[in-house]
Amino acid sequence: MTRAYNFSAGPATLPEAVLRQAQAEMLDWNGVGASIVELSHRGAEFMGVAAEAEANLRRLLSIPDDYAVLFMAGGATTQQALLPLNFAAPGQTADYVVTGHWSRTAIRQARPYVNVHVVADGEPGGFRDIPPRAQWSLSPDAAYVHITANETIHGVEYREVPDVGDVPLFADFSSSIASGPIDVSRYGLIYAGAQKNLGPVGIAVVIVRRELLERAGQPRADIFTYASHAARDSMLNTPPTWNWYLLGLTVKWMLEQGGVEEFARRSEAKAALVYEAIDSSGGFYRNEVAPAVRSRMNIPFFLPDETLTARFVAESRQAGLLGLKGHKAVGGIRASLYNAMPVEGARALVEFMRDFQRRHG
Ligand SMILES: *Cc1c(COP(=O)(O)O)cnc(C)c1O
Repeated sequence: MTRAYNFSAGPATLPEAVLRQAQAEMLDWNGVGASIVELSHRGAEFMGVAAEAEANLRRLLSIPDDYAVLFMAGGATTQQALLPLNFAAPGQTADYVVTGHWSRTAIRQARPYVNVHVVADGEPGGFRDIPPRAQWSLSPDAAYVHITANETIHGVEYREVPDVGDVPLFADFSSSIASGPIDVSRYGLIYAGAQKNLGPVGIAVVIVRRELLERAGQPRADIFTYASHAARDSMLNTPPTWNWYLLGLTVKWMLEQGGVEEFARRSEAKAALVYEAIDSSGGFYRNEVAPAVRSRMNIPFFLPDETLTARFVAESRQAGLLGLKGHKAVGGIRASLYNAMPVEGARALVEFMRDFQRRHG
C-alpha cells in the first residue's frame, strides 16, 4: 500500500500514525472488548477519552481557564448560525469583515437573527487582500465583530489579530487552527470545524470566554445554547464520539510532534516552497493574493488556460498528488497544506510543478 499526498481542502489528510492507531483499536479499544464508538458516551471509557482530548487541546493552544471548550456536532456552518442566537439581542447589530467565501457564509447564517453590518468588504478587490483595519467602519454597539482567520477558498489569511476595542472578536479558525500559536485571550470566541486541521469531519470546536455565556441572546432551544453545552461538558445529547476520539488522537499527535510552534515552522516552510515555485515560474503559475496576507494553509493558483489546468489535475493525480483541483468558485488549482501534510508532500508538489512546466510550459 502506498499513501498519496492528499492536498484536499477538507475533509483533508490525517496523520498516518493517527489512522494506524484508530485501525489497531477499531475492534477492541484498550482491552475492553469493544470499539470506542460502541461504548456509551456517559461511561468511564469515553468520558476519559473526551476529557483527555479537551486537556490536550487546552495544552496545544494554551487556552486560558476562563475559556470554555465545547465539542459540537454540526460543523462550522452551524456555529455561524448559533453565534447571533447566543450572543446578540434581537435586532442588535453584529459586525462582519468580508474577506472571501466563508465570511459570506457566516453572514448568510447570521442574517435571520441579527442586523448584519459589513464593516469592510474585500470583494471589489477580488478578495486578493484583507481590507486594512484603518478602513473598517466598526459599530460602537455591535454584539461582536466576526472575522474569518483563514479563507480556505480565496487563500487569504490574517497574519495579526485586528484590534477591535472592547467589542468581542469572534473568529472562524476552521482552516488554520493549531497551525501556529493563537493568543486566545484576544478573542471572545474561536470556532473551527475539525476536518481541516484538527481531525475528522463531524465535530466542531468552540472556544469561548466564559463570561460571554451569560449573555441572554435570543429565544432558542436548549440544544442551540452554548451555555447549556458548557454546563454539561458537551454531553447535552449524544456527542459525535468517534469524531471526538479521532480529534483527540490528532491533537495528541500534534503535541508529540512539538506543538503549535513546530507546526508554525513547518507551515512557513511548506508555504514558502509552493509560493516560491509559483513566483519563480515566469508567470506560468499565478497566485494573485497580496504577499502579506497569503495563506499558509490554502494556496490557490492558476495556469495559463483551462486545458492545462485539467491536465495538471489529471497528471498530478497519476503522480500520487490528490485533491489539487481548485474550488469551483475560483477555478484553477488549490493546494491545501494542513498540519498533517509533511514538508516532503510540499516538496513533491513543487517537483511536479517544475516538471509539468518543463513539459507543457
Ligand atoms: C470548511 C469551512 C467552513 C465550513 O465548515 P462545515 O464544517 O462544512 O460547516 C467554514 N469556514 C471555513 C473557514 C472553512 O474552511
